[in-house]
Amino acid sequence: MSSTDLLSRLGVRRRLNAAGTLTRLGGSLMAPQVLEAMREAAACSVDMAELQTAAGRRIAELMGAEAAMVTSGASAAMTLACAACLAGWQAAAMARLPQTEGMPNRMLMARTHRNTYDHAVRLAGAQIVDIGHNDHGTGAGVRGLEAWEIEAAIDDQVVGMVFTATSHTLRDLPRVIETLHAHGRLVIVDAAAQLPPRGNLQRLIAMGADLVIFSGGKAIGGPQSTGILAGRRMLIGSALVQMMDMDVHPATWMPAGLIDRAALKGLPTHGIGRGFKVGKEEIAGLVCALERYLATDEQAQHQQWMERLLAVKAILIQHAGLSAELLDCAPGAGVPCLAIRPAQADVFRLSLALQALPLPLHLGESRINDGVLLFNPIALRPEDDEAAARCLLQTLLEIES
Ligand SMILES: *Cc1c(COP(=O)(O)O)cnc(C)c1O
Repeated sequence: MSSTDLLSRLGVRRRLNAAGTLTRLGGSLMAPQVLEAMREAAACSVDMAELQTAAGRRIAELMGAEAAMVTSGASAAMTLACAACLAGWQAAAMARLPQTEGMPNRMLMARTHRNTYDHAVRLAGAQIVDIGHNDHGTGAGVRGLEAWEIEAAIDDQVVGMVFTATSHTLRDLPRVIETLHAHGRLVIVDAAAQLPPRGNLQRLIAMGADLVIFSGGKAIGGPQSTGILAGRRMLIGSALVQMMDMDVHPATWMPAGLIDRAALKGLPTHGIGRGFKVGKEEIAGLVCALERYLATDEQAQHQQWMERLLAVKAILIQHAGLSAELLDCAPGAGVPCLAIRPAQADVFRLSLALQALPLPLHLGESRINDGVLLFNPIALRPEDDEAAARCLLQTLLEIES
């Protein structure tokens, strides 16, 4: 129980989260050191552009990028990334967004990469141009993305391409970067949830992507409302100025670090990212969490998750009508989980019943249509493992009876 006891005063229940670092369940659990960094920042006034520049320098150093900044999540980073590619240093273009008629505004996306975060791309004013086929998605064929399919779509309205990184799509990234760069166009990589493996933090930048995006509130374990935008220095500067508070007097404004006043064509007003404000506390927390994430032993962490899941499995298989198979949460994801398949009970009913418990339990639903719920350890306190397993067993017995 915390000193203020706020959640229980508000009547908000704690939940057992065995579903992963989902935004709707509040993302990751933060380490005390991260909170300590946030507390330190909370007690100081700072120049936000200076803090962003310094935090960005540290993040960029850890990622091997030219520059980086902290955003209010990966989705906000997608919008800012597109805004930076569309507007560059032009104040007039920044002021117009998301209105983009008459200026190059097209962003290519492979059909297989489209997802509900497309909205973040469109929000900047970018027009998504869908290319390629969905052979993998439909199981109808074997093809990935071809260079000619990209080249055929590049015209003078195309600014760049948005690439959704997954363990399936990554093999296409070098070809995409090579093709776009051969035509002087930009590549934005949405790698929001592509951690672990930790090496992706450096790998995508090293492959030559112009902008790379990660969530801060997933595996990194930072504040839920944070994300990382990293890449070319000029693009990060443009994204930053489009997010900053620009209620400044031209005569007294002292733009810090990444914001290049000499390059800026005019003094921008509040940009499209002004609503994606990120607090000094979140910036401090994210940097602290990222340093901690990079310092952890990835194999030891994986081993701990496996041991926890095996202990949960030992409880669950006491029920003969339930199988619990250890596998990766998503192919190549590096977070193990238990695939729970009840022989008798309907998984939709089971999920609803678990969420209705006095101490609600949430399981991953990415395979629910196959009759499988996933038990993911990443955002569950280890001391809650046993309670979660017992709740699951008990609830299963109840709905079967
Ligand atoms: C989680 C996720 C996002 C959004 O991340 P936030 O940090 O919650 O804004 C965007 N794209 C993909 C592929 C994601 O998995």
